[in-house]
Formats: sequence, C-alpha cells, structure tokens
Amino acid sequence: MDTVEQPNPDTELANDEDLNPLHLTHAQFQRAVEYLDDIKKGIVGFLMAPKRSISVCFPIEMDDGSVKIFNGYRVLHNRVLGPGKGGVRYHPEVNQTTVSALAELMTWKCSLIKVPFGGAKGGVQCNPKELSKNELRRITRRFITELGDNIGPHTDIPAPDLYTDEQTMAWVYDTYDVMHPGENNLPVVTGKPLELGGSLGRHEATGRGCLYATQRVLANRIIEGMETVEGAKVAVQGFGQVGSVVAKLFQEAGAIVIAVSDSQGGIYEEEGLDLEAAEQYKFEHGSVVGLPETRTITNEDLLELECDILVPAALGNQIRLHNVSQVKAKLVVEAANGPTTLEADDVLTRKGIFVIPDILANAGGVTVSYFEWVQNIENEEWDLEEVNKKLRLKMNRASDAVVDRWQKLVKDHPESEIAPINLRTAALVVAVDRVAHVTLERGIWP
Ligand code: NAD
Repeated sequence: MDTVEQPNPDTELANDEDLNPLHLTHAQFQRAVEYLDDIKKGIVGFLMAPKRSISVCFPIEMDDGSVKIFNGYRVLHNRVLGPGKGGVRYHPEVNQTTVSALAELMTWKCSLIKVPFGGAKGGVQCNPKELSKNELRRITRRFITELGDNIGPHTDIPAPDLYTDEQTMAWVYDTYDVMHPGENNLPVVTGKPLELGGSLGRHEATGRGCLYATQRVLANRIIEGMETVEGAKVAVQGFGQVGSVVAKLFQEAGAIVIAVSDSQGGIYEEEGLDLEAAEQYKFEHGSVVGLPETRTITNEDLLELECDILVPAALGNQIRLHNVSQVKAKLVVEAANGPTTLEADDVLTRKGIFVIPDILANAGGVTVSYFEWVQNIENEEWDLEEVNKKLRLKMNRASDAVVDRWQKLVKDHPESEIAPINLRTAALVVAVDRVAHVTLERGIWP
C-alpha cells in the first residue's frame, strides 16, 4: 500500500474554498432540485438527511501487545429503493462527515444506474500502511461485530473502497457468518474473492464501467471532434483497484495512456506507457515512480497535462479552484468519488470542459456488486461475458439518460440563472427525481 495523503475533509475552507464533502454533496443536490419543479418541498429535507448514522469506538490488541482505540462509522443514507449499499474505507481521514457525504452519493448512484439499493458507506479511521495484516483482520472483525444486525443481506451490504479489498470482504463475510450460522450469508457483502461467492468481473467492474460510460457519452457526439476513446491521450491519477484497470482498459480500447500516478507521484511518456511494466514496477518497488524510460511528474503536474481525457481515480477534492484553470483535458471522467469541488466544476463548465460525474463514471462497481448479490441469492455463477454484457447495458442506459436530460435542460433553460447545467446536474436530476417519485409512490407511513 502507498503513503496516504489527503486534504483534511474537516478543513472547511482551504484558500477560501469550501472542501467539506457534505457541503459539496448537498450543494450539488440542491442544484438538481432547482430543476425539479414538481418535487414536494418536505421530500427535499427527507432526501438530504441520512436515515441512520452509526459511530462506534473499539479497542484492538496490536501485534506488539499494546491496545489502540479505533473509530468506525456506517451511514445508511436512504433505503427507499432497497437495502443500503456502499463501500467500507480504511483511511486516516475517515469521519462521520466524509462517510455521510459518500453515503448520499451512493443513493444517487444506485438510483441513476437502476439497481435496487439505497445509499450507504462506512469506514474505520486508521492508516492501513502502518497496520499489519493481522491487525487489519482484527479491526475488520471487531468493526463488523460492533455493527451487528445493522448490516445484513437485506439491510445494508458493504463492499470494498479505498484501502480495503477482496481479503477485507472475506473477513467481513466470515465474521457475519459466524454471528448468523445456518443461513446463506453470502449476499451480506460484495467484492468477495471469487472462490467465496465473488462475481467474475467485479474486480474490474468500476474501471470497465468507466470505459463504457465514456464510450457511450462520446458516441452521443456532445464533444466536438471526439466521438470515441480511440487515439485519445489519457492521464489517470491513482493506480489502485480502479485507476490501474481504467488505464489498462482504455489502452486496450485504443487510447494512448500518457500518464499514471500513485501517492508517491506520477510517470509520463508522450508515446504511451507500458502499463504491464508499470504494474510490475509498482509491485516490486511500491510505486510507479522510477519506471525506466518514463519522466517523473507530480500528481499536480498530472492534472495539468495536455491530454484529451483526464481520469481522477484516487481521492476527493483533487480538482480545485487553485488548479482548475490549468486543466487542459477536453473531458474529465470521475472514476474517484468527489474529485472535483463545486467551484472547480463551475469553472470547467464555463470553459466547456465536460465532466462525466462520479455517480455515473464509477457506477460500474455497484452494478456488478448488485450482480454478485443476485448470484449469491440464487446460488448461481454467471460467466464473465454475461456479467460484462449486463454491465454495458446498464452503463449505456444510464449514460443515455444523463445526456438526454442534459440536452433537455439546456434546451428548456437557455439562459439559466438557476445553476450551471452540466452532466452532473443532469445525472442528479435523473437520480433524485427517481427516488423522490418512489418515495411518494410507496406513500409516507403511517
Ligand atoms: P485503492 O486503495 O485501490 O487505490 C487508491 C489509489 O490512489 C492508489 O494508487 C494510491 O496510491 C492512490 N493515491 C493515494 N493517495 C494519493 C494522492 N495523494 N495522490 C494521488 N494518488 C493517490 O482505491 P480504489 O478502490 O482504486 O478507489 C479509488 C477511488 O475510486 C476512491 O475515490 C473510491 O471511492 C472510488 N471508487 C472505488 C470503487 C471500487 O470498486 N473500488 C468503486 C467506486 C468508486
């Protein structure tokens, strides 16, 4: 694992810019609501508030015999469309605010991609780089035990996120299974190892979904001179589960991947990188930085490269007011959650740079998580072609819905004074509208 560096999400103002992730999520939501004329006023407050927020504190015996206290969080934002669904991240900056914002994003993502889940998210505040595998296992088991029946196959279903992986999900499953013997508990968590009920294609799903969404948006011919990823110069920030797959699949689809990075920095090669060599080098040296025959660049340089497509696939708040004017890509594809601040987003819109928003761009992960959940319930195993075919269908439909709504919004509000109309606003309008309607269809209880 890499060094973890991230702007503190609790730092509400950095260079006069609001970086609080919950403020950003709510501001984006409010913009979408401005374009939903028939939304009931009371519903708006309901859609913003988390249904349930859990915060737990627990001791762990460390390898050296000492005891440390850890804080864990799980937020279920909304379950109108179904049980909660969302990742678990292990990171020093995990806190209630970040997790709440990410849970809300999951609600809109699940709605947009049309999987029958509500939004949830969780995490433990820790630095995985400083923890042994055994310590991570103990943290996971204790965290899941603390959550008790607040997670479950039809209640709230965790998945991998930053610095958690298939191994972590195997521990989540095993802990829950020990607590609930004699039941089919496989659907309690997704992103599991293949031999433990994981789905073929889940590991690559987020990156693959990113490619499919990009291809479909471009095929809609909304960006002049770019109808396909073929020949496009691509820069990818982050070389983890998502970023490394994005780079590989875009390259396979004919793009030229000129730069990738991790927490130590980035590498650049104008003619296109040898990604297999980069992967091997990272495996051996812990970072892509230093790969022979490449130029070392900083993460900041990477965001400002001359390229056609920029894919932030690491942390939140990477494209901000202080660097947005240097972004030269024609298209930003948000593989990470919340990589662009609200104000930077407005600058990109004004500059005519399109952004495929996170709730669309990285929805492939939750889509194949849903497929895994279905296979677990049915005790079935779909082959890879079937998984990828179904994934493409869902990504295409959601991408078309976003582009259609964007075109309609632009047509209906030619001189909009309300809020900038971009693909993010359009995606949120589609997603929020759906959850609002289903809330009323189900009826307010009692
Ligand atoms: P990961 O832990 O596998 O990889 C994270 C990558 O970010 C690593 O390459 C790391 O080196 C890099 N990184 C860390 N700090 C950095 C910094 N300061 N500058 C540049 N790079 C840095 O995590 P992941 O699962 O690939 O998740 C990446 C993003 O994608 C997150 O925002 C996550 O929420 C989002 N996401 C992940 C999934 C999924 O299925 N894993 C699904 C949807 C969204």
